[in-house]
Amino acid sequence: MAVIGLTVNYSSPMASYTPPVRDMIFTLDTIAGIGSIIEAPEFDHVDADMIEGALDEAARFFSEVFAPTNEIGDEEGATLVDGQVITPEAFKPVWNKLVDAGWTAVTGSPEYGGHGFPKTFGIAISEMMTSANLAFSLNPMLTGSGITLLTRHGSDELRDLYLSKLISSEWTGTMVLTEPEAGSDVGALRTRADRNDDGTYRINGTKIFITWGDHDLTDNVIHMVLARTPDAPVGTKGISLFLVPKYLLDADGTPGERNTVEIVSLEHKLGIHASPTCVLSFEDSTGYLIGEENQGMRYMFTMMNQARLEVGLEGLSVAERAYQHASAYAKERTQGRMMGGSKPAPIIEHPDVRRMLMTMKAYTEAMRGLVYDAVAADDRMHCAATQEERDAARDRLALLTPITKSWCTDHGVDVASIGVQVFGGMGFIEDSGAPQFYRDARITPIYEGTNGIQALDLVMRKLPMHGGDVINGYLDEIDSLAAKLADTDDLNDIGRALSSAVATVREATRFLLGSSPSDAMAGATPYQEMLGTLAGGYYLARQAAAAVERAIDVPWLAAKVGTARFYAATVLPLINGMAGAVTSGSDTTFAVSEEYIGAVR
Ligand SMILES: Cc1cc2nc3c(=O)[nH]c(=O)nc-3n(C[C@H](O)[C@H](O)[C@H](O)COP(=O)(O)OP(=O)(O)OC[C@H]3O[C@@H](n4cnc5c(N)ncnc54)[C@H](O)[C@@H]3O)c2cc1C
Repeated sequence: MAVIGLTVNYSSPMASYTPPVRDMIFTLDTIAGIGSIIEAPEFDHVDADMIEGALDEAARFFSEVFAPTNEIGDEEGATLVDGQVITPEAFKPVWNKLVDAGWTAVTGSPEYGGHGFPKTFGIAISEMMTSANLAFSLNPMLTGSGITLLTRHGSDELRDLYLSKLISSEWTGTMVLTEPEAGSDVGALRTRADRNDDGTYRINGTKIFITWGDHDLTDNVIHMVLARTPDAPVGTKGISLFLVPKYLLDADGTPGERNTVEIVSLEHKLGIHASPTCVLSFEDSTGYLIGEENQGMRYMFTMMNQARLEVGLEGLSVAERAYQHASAYAKERTQGRMMGGSKPAPIIEHPDVRRMLMTMKAYTEAMRGLVYDAVAADDRMHCAATQEERDAARDRLALLTPITKSWCTDHGVDVASIGVQVFGGMGFIEDSGAPQFYRDARITPIYEGTNGIQALDLVMRKLPMHGGDVINGYLDEIDSLAAKLADTDDLNDIGRALSSAVATVREATRFLLGSSPSDAMAGATPYQEMLGTLAGGYYLARQAAAAVERAIDVPWLAAKVGTARFYAATVLPLINGMAGAVTSGSDTTFAVSEEYIGAVR
């Protein structure tokens, strides 16, 4: 589309997305350590060449086939016609190609028809899919989390009936928790499940905000529904989990009679228009218990923890796309002259525009390090050689999950917002494409547990793990890299900045571990930002060190060092300014009484 009225004719690169394969492979190697993951016996069929070849192939698919649906999906959106969700017209053929190519089955268990690749590889594929079209990617994303849930907690019978169809994407899955009065507080949910004589359950209740709760891409939709049996204990201890299919299965396992799950309405949203967000009504719907009664919240956490990493990935993915989009514009758009210049300069030459682009780049690559490291821990907790390594990976994943979800989504929104700014006035105009990334990104800090809830999880549950040993171990790891780098000729500035930042975070951590719950809760979100900012600097510093080790005279490796240096100089020092907000306590937060908050006459 040509944007008119500018001093230059600007062809919007709206549909263009180039998966950053080289950076993905570099991060998989240097941060995630994929080489050691694929040494595990279950990945005997996977090798490094295969991974690189598959990433190149995927890059072609997601840039050429999937990415062009992004703008169409946003404009057309999903609609509800006669109780059935209709997806944008362009989606069905692309969905079929996606499924035929097997990109949704890469990490699925070979026992049920999946390709059995590590999640650490799967995350790179997911990144491409999500950058290409965030709204569309939510369908396979939730299906994937449901597959993990069913694999770990489903009975043999449920696994046999549903897993291979979900892995092959013949059917898709949903996550059904939220009710009008039960959002962050899932324990307040009221949907009821009564046991039938044949062992199935009758589900009754209304659920809201259900992503891809219905659609026309597949023959069946499998809902993972939280509900409460009669006389169940109050709160989260009384929640059970049920598999509720849109179509009940016939004796031969094919979809037959329609279950009584009604799609009441679709939400009209700020972004992710192509993702149908449904109000679902369950009216004596048939459900199948997963695991045991009253253990549903525990099982659902398997699904939610995976989804939280994937939502963190959404922050990274939308940031990457917004960054590519803004960089392309900044190279093309001319405005103003450089000092001493006679011709209008491309805006990328202005120091402030360059600062914006470097900020976008640095945060995006830092997020990639964090997300890939967290997902590698997810693989290692299953496939590492010793129990000790598996336990350490489990703890690392537990610590990194809330940071990944919150920090990457908060900064995904920030990066998309900077992208709008790079476009100047055109950034506010839909035709430029920049607003969609910003609108789409805005949901990510909200769903899958708001970032405020992530902060509580981080500070109240994750910091105290093993008496603070897990967080202190992570900070020690950062400290030891900082000390090593501070001793080098090339990277000592990065080492010193990291060392100063980690000292501040250590002090804030000590404060939170020793403070009252109300003070800790008041400082939780600033602390989460602080720790995420440090983690971002750590992953960039590791990448810089690896770049120097490989060949600093290779331009793109030198760019990795330049990016880490920029972050160390301009972002890491912000941590000092965050300390006050972490340690000021709840007296400060509650210093103004409720009556003076809001309109006061
Ligand atoms: C587009 C979209 C898609 C969604 N997809 C799904 C889905 O597929 N499945 C599903 O089950 N749900 C889904 N949700 C629901 C989503 O997970 C919830 O909206 C979210 O968890 C917040 O719940 P709430 O909206 O009730 O807000 P509330 O819980 O009312 O929160 C309002 C504010 O209060 C804060 N708050 C609440 N409780 C606390 C507390 N204890 N301590 C500190 N702060 C607190 C929150 O952080 C937030 O800022 C989706 C929502 C949207 C908008």
